[in-house]
Amino acid sequence: MRSGSMPDLVHGPRIAIIGGGIGGLAAAAFLRRAGLTATVYEQAPALTEVGAGIVVAPNAVRLLRRLDTMDRFLRRAVPLEWGWEFRRWADGSVLSVENLSGVCERLYGERTYVVHRADLLDTVRTAVPGEWIRLGARCTSVAAAPDGALLRFADGSQVEADVVIGADGVHSVVRDTVAEPAPPEYSGLCAFRTIVPAQHAPDFALRPAQTLWLGPGRHFVHYPIAGGQAVNVFAAAPAEDNLDESWSATATVEEFHAEFAGWDPRVTDLIAGGGVPGRWALLDRAPLRHWSRGKITLLGDAAHPMFPFFAQGAAQSIEDAAVLARCLAGSVDDPEQALKRYESARTERTTRLQQASHARRDVNHLPDGPGQEARDTALAGSDPLVGNGWIYGHDAEAAFIS
Ligand SMILES: Cc1cc2nc3c(=O)[nH]c(=O)nc-3n(C[C@H](O)[C@H](O)[C@H](O)COP(=O)(O)OP(=O)(O)OC[C@H]3O[C@@H](n4cnc5c(N)ncnc54)[C@H](O)[C@@H]3O)c2cc1C
Repeated sequence: MRSGSMPDLVHGPRIAIIGGGIGGLAAAAFLRRAGLTATVYEQAPALTEVGAGIVVAPNAVRLLRRLDTMDRFLRRAVPLEWGWEFRRWADGSVLSVENLSGVCERLYGERTYVVHRADLLDTVRTAVPGEWIRLGARCTSVAAAPDGALLRFADGSQVEADVVIGADGVHSVVRDTVAEPAPPEYSGLCAFRTIVPAQHAPDFALRPAQTLWLGPGRHFVHYPIAGGQAVNVFAAAPAEDNLDESWSATATVEEFHAEFAGWDPRVTDLIAGGGVPGRWALLDRAPLRHWSRGKITLLGDAAHPMFPFFAQGAAQSIEDAAVLARCLAGSVDDPEQALKRYESARTERTTRLQQASHARRDVNHLPDGPGQEARDTALAGSDPLVGNGWIYGHDAEAAFIS
């Protein structure tokens, strides 16, 4: 990559987005929709997502729909008929089930979908002009400059920008410019993931349902993806000395089995049906009080990483992107003010979600006993679809306008 200034834009600030994951590309897509331009700098040589699934809840779907690329999404996504279907680890007895069929749309105007992560990334990427994306561009530092910021890249090149959006994930280098530098902490949990081809999956797992099995110290989640051609499996278990935080780190099928020994055979059958499982350590960061400094800001996991137990990390990065684009478009002559508005519109909600996901770790993993029985009774009497209305009913753009 050659050093220099970003290309001259028709109008508006020169906006650099570091990171071409779901959050960074969503930022570019919403900026384009708002009439601005941007350049996305992604360290990887190609835009890819790991082989895993993701839940896309109504709060994200209603924003994605505004990007006009939903046809791609709907071709591959599976609409859920049942949402949080909690089951007991040992015998599969149903603790509670959320009926989404018709109800989700009636309450929130959108359905809940499960989709392969690559299909979600593709949905967002399609809304971004190809020439906006620079691949193989690893940002090594961001320094505030009088008129914006100076970005340095691993190949020695430098770029000036008026506004910098750090969408570079939980290990964000941009974060170190706006907050006290600190590495993320290990949570003590690791996540296993595998994909089971439909022909190796029991019919039970092909239902359009997100099923969560709760047990002592662990939980196990599955749902169909890829138009029903495969089942995505995610499981949280103690990390012990497995501290590798990488989507490409693996475990053995035997190790995965050992973690869930004695669980209902429908769980262990799914483990047996998948290939070599991925396993990586789940990281943790306390919420930031501020994530912007001058004309530099953060978005998505760089700003507010959260445990995946509410399935909201990517959704929140999409919400961030929509609000940030609105703020910048509404204040092109004063981007610093725009970033302040963006941050103040977003921090309360993302902090609440970080905290809620954190708390769920303990609730999901209670040992059998009075605490677990009380939890199961509470689950049986709850309606998460209504109880989580503050998550699913939120329209990030409309909330910002009002
Ligand atoms: C097991 C698991 C299950 C999950 N399930 C769900 C779910 O069901 N629903 C949901 O909404 N969320 C879910 N999440 C959360 C979701 O995956 C994340 O919140 C989301 O991917 C964050 O997107 P992001 O763009 O902020 O960061 P990332 O996806 O981490 O993307 C960051 C990008 O920046 C690039 N990058 C990093 N450093 C640099 C650099 N220095 N220079 C240039 N590029 C750089 C990276 O290569 C990457 O492409 C889950 C997470 C996990 C771990």
